[in-house]
Parts: sequence; C-alpha cells; structure tokens
Amino acid sequence: MTTKRPPTALEKMGLDSPMALALHLPSRYEDETELLSIEDALSRGRFASAQTQGVVIRNQVLFRPRRQLLVTIEDDTAVLQLRFLNFYPSQQKQMTVGAHVRVRGDVREGFQGLEMVHPTVKAVIPDAPLPKSLTPVYPATAGISQALIRKAVSQALREPSLQESLAEFLPKSFMSDLRSSHDWPNLQAAITYLHQPPADADTQSLLERTHPAWRRVQFEELLTQQISLKRAHSIRRQRHAPSFPQTQAHSEIEAGLLKVLPFTLTGAQERVWAEIGNDLANAFPMNRLLQGDVGSGKTVVAALAAARVMDHGYQAAVMAPTEILAEQHYLKMKEWFEPLGISVAWLSGSLKAKEKRLTQELIENGTAQLIIGTHALIQETVKFAKLGLAVIDEQHRFGVRQRLEIQQRLGSELFYCHQLMMSATPIPRTLAMTYYADLDVSVIDELPPGRKPIVTKVVKAARRDEVIDGLRDWLGKGLQAYWVCPLIEESEVLQLQTAVESFEQLTLALPDFKVGLVHGRLKGEEKAAVMSAFKANAIQLLVATTVIEVGVDVPNAALMVIEHAERFGYAQIHQLRGRVGRGSADSVCILMYAEPLSLAAKERLQTLREISDGFVIAERDLSLRGPGELLGAKQSGDSMLRFVDLQRDAWLIELAQHVAERLLAEHADLVERHLERWLGSRTEFLKA
Ligand code: ADP
Ligand code: MG
Repeated sequence: MTTKRPPTALEKMGLDSPMALALHLPSRYEDETELLSIEDALSRGRFASAQTQGVVIRNQVLFRPRRQLLVTIEDDTAVLQLRFLNFYPSQQKQMTVGAHVRVRGDVREGFQGLEMVHPTVKAVIPDAPLPKSLTPVYPATAGISQALIRKAVSQALREPSLQESLAEFLPKSFMSDLRSSHDWPNLQAAITYLHQPPADADTQSLLERTHPAWRRVQFEELLTQQISLKRAHSIRRQRHAPSFPQTQAHSEIEAGLLKVLPFTLTGAQERVWAEIGNDLANAFPMNRLLQGDVGSGKTVVAALAAARVMDHGYQAAVMAPTEILAEQHYLKMKEWFEPLGISVAWLSGSLKAKEKRLTQELIENGTAQLIIGTHALIQETVKFAKLGLAVIDEQHRFGVRQRLEIQQRLGSELFYCHQLMMSATPIPRTLAMTYYADLDVSVIDELPPGRKPIVTKVVKAARRDEVIDGLRDWLGKGLQAYWVCPLIEESEVLQLQTAVESFEQLTLALPDFKVGLVHGRLKGEEKAAVMSAFKANAIQLLVATTVIEVGVDVPNAALMVIEHAERFGYAQIHQLRGRVGRGSADSVCILMYAEPLSLAAKERLQTLREISDGFVIAERDLSLRGPGELLGAKQSGDSMLRFVDLQRDAWLIELAQHVAERLLAEHADLVERHLERWLGSRTEFLKA
C-alpha cells in the first residue's frame, strides 16, 4: 500500500521522476567557470559581466540619497565596490567584514569609479574548485529555488535507472547515419550536455536551441510523436466500423438529395466526396478532415456522406460548436432531407427537459435518422440506436477536453463510427505533419461558381457617417448587410452595451429599413427568430456581436462592416468576412478601426485587405500565435512538443517522419518501450 503524502514542490511542477527531471532542460546558463582577479574584472570595463572574489573590508548602510547597502571587497590586486538598493538583513550578515565572498555581475560606472550593482553573492571557501560547466538556469514556478532544481536534476542524472531509459534505442545503423551527417551526440550525452555544458560551449546556439545537443533532443521528441501518430494510424485500421459502399440497392437517399439540390457540385466537391465515399466503404473508421475556405460548400458534402450512411440504414450525426451554427445546419438539412422522408432531429442544451427526453428517445429507438446538434449530442444520456457517421463542424473550436470527450464517446459505441471533421481554418503543413498525422485530409480548393471576390476596405472610425451613408445606398438596392460590433474581451456586459448603442444609432439613421440585433445573451429561440427574419429579408441590416462568426449563410447579405476591427485576430476577421461573398452581388467588407493603431494591428489590417487566401492568413496566424492556440492545447496547459518549434525546426519533421517509418517497418519491437519512456501518461493528448 502506498501512503498518501502531499506532493512536493517539484512534483507539483510535474518533476516527479528522473526522466521528468532529465527532460526539464535549462532555459539559459550562467558562467561561473571563470574567476577573475578584481583588477582583471575591472579592466574588462563597463557593462562586462564578470565573476570575482575577495574579502569584505567594509559593510555600511547609507541613507542618502536613499537607503542602500555598500560593501567593499578586496583581493591582492584591487578593491571593488558592491551596491545593493534592496537587501535583506541576511545579506548584510553574509557580507560582514572578514567574510570571503564570490560575486558575479555587470561592472558599471558608479559614483566612485567602477562597481557592481546587485551582484549575486556566494560565501566561498577561498581555494574551493570552480565549477567546470556552465550553471543551468531552469524554468521554475514561484517559490522554487534554482538550487533545489539543480540538485534534483543532477541527482536524477546519476540514477542508474535513468541511464537505462536514456540508452540509445535507435539501432546503430540508423544512428550512425544521423550522427555523422548532423554531428549529433547520442541522447544521453545530449541531455547531460544541455544540463551541464562545458565552460567553452557555444552559448549562442544553446540559447537559440540550434546546438547539436538540442537537435538530438528535438529529433527524439519529433520521432516519438511521429511513431505514436503512425501507430494510431495502424490501430485505426485494425478497428471495425460498418462499411457503406456505394451500391445500386443503397442509393435512394443519396440520389434524392442530388436531385433536391438547387445547384450542381463543383469539381472540388465531387473530388472530396469521392474521397470520403471511399473511406465510408472501408470496414475501419474514417478519420478525415474536410478543409475548405469559408463559403466553399462543405455542408453539402457532409450531407452526401450522411445520405450514404442513411441509405444503409444507419444514423448520422452532425455536431457544431455553437448553437447558431448547429441550427443553421439543422435548417439546411431539414430543407434537403425532409422532402425525402428522412426524420431529422435537433438536440441542444437549450431544449426543454421534456423535448430533450423525447428527442433522445427517437435517437435511441432509431426513429431519428439524422441528428443535428451541439455538444449536447455526446452526453452520456444520448444513446444512438445505430450511429454510422459523426460529422464535426469547426472541430478546432471545441476545446481539447471536449475533443477528447468526443473521441471517447465515439470510441465507446459498440463499433467505431466514421468521423468527418470540417474546418475553414487551414492547417499549415508543419502542423498537419505533426499533430494531425493520423488524419486524412480532403481540401475543397475551389469556390462555387459566380462568387465575386470580396473587396476589403480599411476605414478610420472617424468616417463612420460616410460608412452609414454608403450603407443606406446599399440597402436601397435591395441588398442586405451585417454590422459586426466590437469584441470586448474584458466584459460581456460592455460588449452588449456597445452593440445596443450601435443598434439604436443605426435604427435612427436608417428609418427606411428594418434593423435587427443578435448577440450572445439572447435565448436560442430569440436568436433563431432574428436569424430567420434576416434570412427571409424581413430584416435588412443585422447588428451582431461575434455570434455570427461561423457558418451563417445568407447569400443576399454581401456587405459587412466590422467595428473596431483592430481588436480582432486574423482568423476571426477572415471567418467573419466569409459570411459575405456568397451571392452574385459584389461583396464588400469594411474594416473600421479606431486610432491610435498599434503597429501589429496596422500590419494585420493591411494584410487582411490585400490577402483573401485563408491558407496564407492561417500561416501568418500560426507564426504569430504559435500552434497551441490553433490546436486548443493552451486550454489543457499541455503542449505535445516541448522542445520543437514548428517554424524553426520544420526540416527536422521530415527527417523524423522518415526515420519513424523505417523504424516501424524494421524494428517494431523497439517502438513501444520508446513511447513509454518519453511520453508516459501524455499519450492521450495525441488523440484529441
Ligand atoms: P462552408 O464551406 O463555409 O460551410 P457552406 O456549405 O455553408 O460553406 O456553403 C456556402 C454556400 O454555398 C451555401 O449557400 C451553399 O448552399 C452554397 N453552395 C454550396 N455548394 C455549391 C455549389 N456547388 N454551387 C453553388 N452554390 C453552392
Ligand atoms: Mg460551414
């Protein structure tokens, strides 16, 4: 039996094993290997960092010009003044007259010649040997001293068990190629080097993490990731899912849907539908991402997949991250499928308990064939009679936790059902190769015909009246428009207030038109009522907070004004403006900004004006925010890649991918042990 004790400070930081400590790598180093005489330290001149030592010959507290501690030390060569503007009594005591101290800091010009301000001070035994390696400085949480981490790490590095788990596991033939062509040390040597680099190490490349020792560790991390992703890939192929081939006998709904559609599929839609159709015919679960810029027509492809599954007598579910978006899907699917006699059900958290129970019953007894909803779909109480396909729209907008829940839920059904994820946010190549390697990707790279490019204009808020005049002309032509109110992160109340103000102002300014307001505080039905009035052109101008960010589809609304556009990120504006440009009218997006504009915001608005390609915008976004945010990993506080920077180290990914393939093919036996030592309990995040 293990006795429970509170976790130590180090354990709280996750440093709970020799391996965890060994992989807790320094963020920088201090050089304590060189000890200069005071004369030499001073002769390095101003702003040079130096370490020296001597005997304290004076220690006094001054009160003018402010309270400070002045200590003078001397050695055989010279004297040095130390100045402390903040100090503890313990420091004062440490530096009593006669004490031997070693100090390290920057030499500066003081009132009385050169001095050190706030050096680090250590008591020393005069002839004690100097450290031979650079002193590591570790990432630490408040209250944990460097000394504590250093001690724990160097103890861990001496553990026999650690030596064993860091043993080179790549076969010699692999490693000698890699090591000789890249000058890499073996893993254990690399890790030891990073914790204790020799005095003459190239600190620049250590700091930049491009040193061969860093490369070796980064490679290991990427290799691990590639292996686990590839393994997930083959595990998926061993799982069973119902197979839905296209056959004459099972094509009634699919054919019916194609007939009901008011348009024909684009070439790109045909192609991705063929890819998805092939997956559905497999007896193992599909795991595919359908990627396509806003407005590219992903919904109909999802509907076709649902039709195929229903043709085989199975249920299909479509899930979206927000109520508004889910509802749009519901309305569209009803429009397409109800004429074909399909029962389309709606499930969301905002349903009344009784309605919810009723719907759940229909899902459970198989009456409901196509189920559309929010996150409520994956709750324990929802039992599908025969789920064959789950479509998850804008899946990256679900949090990591929710995504894990989805995976667990879908995996816990009797069989694994097919999964289709949809996203308008393109995944940059480096991300696709790392985090999403077990995902097949289909891309719709063509917009439906007749779309005009969106003209994006950037306008000062001071010209608001002109914008409203333009809006009046626009609405006068029988067209509709959106007015998007600023995002106010600090306060939802404030956000609502500004939306109401804009709504009132625009209602007054545009008396000939009906202005509507939609925001996050409205109830589900109220939102739906406003949206359907807008859809029916009973409302001409829709004032909205960012609730319309995803998926809203009103082709006649081809003008969008975004207030305080400088407060939005790249992806948000790109998503927002994707709401326009859906009909045959020329589409315009006006980005209004308030001055003063930060440099970053200025650049962002300019880029958005010039570039409409979602892929380019996503790359910019990634370089700005890092992958964590795109992945939603930030929420979990756990990023899979700790040492690799996807931008800086992109070239390593391909190498790791190649080695992982070879390794799995030739040395499958080594793989398991390796994953275990590196990932421990973190493997589950790979599945999200
Ligand atoms: P998104 O990919 O952003 O989800 P949607 O599926 O909502 O895009 O489609 C955007 C609009 O384009 C919808 O009004 C849809 O009916 C229409 N659409 C989709 N495919 C085509 C097509 N092949 N031809 C014409 N219009 C299409
Ligand atoms: Mg969509």
